[in-house]
Amino acid sequence: MKYIIVTGGVMSGLGKGITAASIGRILKNKGFNVTAIKIDPYINIDAGTMSPYQHGEVFVLKDGGEVDLDLGNYERFLDIELTREHNITTGQVYQTVIEKERRGDYLGKTVQIIPHITNEIKERTRKVAKRSGADICIIEVGGTVGDIESMPFLEAVRQMHSEESKEDIVFIHVTLVPLDAQGEQKTKPTQHSVKELRSLGLQPDVIVARCKEPLHEDTKSKIALFCDVPASAVVSAHDASDIYYVPTMMEKEGLSEYLVQKLKLSPKDNAHEWDVFMKKMASIDREIRVAVVGKYAHLGDSYISINEALKHAGIECRCRVRTDWINAEDFEKKPASIDLLQKYNAILVPGGFGARGTEGKILAIKYAREHNVPYLGLCLGMQLAVIEFARNVVGLKDANSTELAKTEHPVIDLLPEQENIKNMGGTMRLGNYEAILKENSLASKLYGSSTLIERHRHRYEVNPKYIPQIEAKGMKFTGRNDHRMEIAEIPGHKFFFSSQFHPEFRSRPGKPSPPFLAFMKAALD
Ligand code: GLN
Repeated sequence: MKYIIVTGGVMSGLGKGITAASIGRILKNKGFNVTAIKIDPYINIDAGTMSPYQHGEVFVLKDGGEVDLDLGNYERFLDIELTREHNITTGQVYQTVIEKERRGDYLGKTVQIIPHITNEIKERTRKVAKRSGADICIIEVGGTVGDIESMPFLEAVRQMHSEESKEDIVFIHVTLVPLDAQGEQKTKPTQHSVKELRSLGLQPDVIVARCKEPLHEDTKSKIALFCDVPASAVVSAHDASDIYYVPTMMEKEGLSEYLVQKLKLSPKDNAHEWDVFMKKMASIDREIRVAVVGKYAHLGDSYISINEALKHAGIECRCRVRTDWINAEDFEKKPASIDLLQKYNAILVPGGFGARGTEGKILAIKYAREHNVPYLGLCLGMQLAVIEFARNVVGLKDANSTELAKTEHPVIDLLPEQENIKNMGGTMRLGNYEAILKENSLASKLYGSSTLIERHRHRYEVNPKYIPQIEAKGMKFTGRNDHRMEIAEIPGHKFFFSSQFHPEFRSRPGKPSPPFLAFMKAALD
């Protein structure tokens, strides 16, 4: 097993996750099987309880793991499927160590950060890496070097460095090279950050410098000199117009060549898929506008996977997707403002929790249905589509979800078996579930199959009691998992497709998610 440890310096938000994912991709393009682990030094056990306001999107894995959004980047860039163990948090590590202590596993010893916590970190990391069956495992240490929280993790990877043979482990440090008022590239923050890293016993092999413009040769030499790395191992990671250009940039900087030598690997060309995708991306000649009507409208990070899925689908159609994030509450405050949806080719309502903004989203769905505008509803976006239909077509005026309001007509509700789960602490239906698709439906057409598997993250369901009434009026539930409705569509509409699952999590560059692709095609039509 080869390990590539990615740390970050100077400040957060440098795009370390994209860097790590891109490094993975250039190695995949050289024929290696690459996996990735994200270490998050926070105390939370997982990202499931974290607000998208604070932390961006919660990414959902096939096994139901609710994880940091960087795992989404890894899955997309590497075209792999990860499991929850690939996101290691301080909370998990301490929980395990404390459980072991209670069981008496430490035989009366004083349990300490070194060696007990660090051993646990190393053990976990190695186990996950080996179990993946990959050739190379990228380990991204979250946070910035110098943070108190990440110390035990940095100490653990330091120990790994002395335990693994030299050709099996590489350290990559991602830093920032800012410009001064004269536009000169400044290396001091990088020098300081590497100094900090060294004080912890870590010497980077490669420095990836985030900067506005490509690093000048003399900036590279200066970093090389001060930080003790060869100039060929100073990589310029300048701003790119799209994240999918980053692997190409790193390849051009000679990074894969450097890593292949350093790790004594034998590469073979495997870049075909990526090249095809890049070519499609370069041949974009159209643009469409999509309105995403949501709650965290001002925060792109809360909907990364949807953004990427739209982009993947757009690129497949050679078109740029201009997405406007519209705050659903604006429609509630000024219902007449719904007309601003006129300028869009398509409307999407994403997943969400809680009542805020839902009436505004329902207005947007009504607009899409009545004006024959392509509509894609994801999770809550399906539940609200059912509510809108029940209210305005079936005539159940106060139809609603019991999550959102008290109602006579709970068309969306907890199923009886979930009531119990809720009382036991409120778990969600998470991860992969199958749906059986109706013949001749839009669903079976766009998936090209009679079944599908997609990822879920929800509690509430379409109430089976109302299905006959709703279907009689023309909304069809064309994907089902037993008594759970997975897809609601309206035949005859230009494109009206909504799912209880989240197809965005499985979309990949070059392999767009079927509903997103069909949505895009309908929008272009
Ligand atoms: N809040 C809804 C539920 O729990 C929808 C969840 C979602 O959109 N992810 O069922």
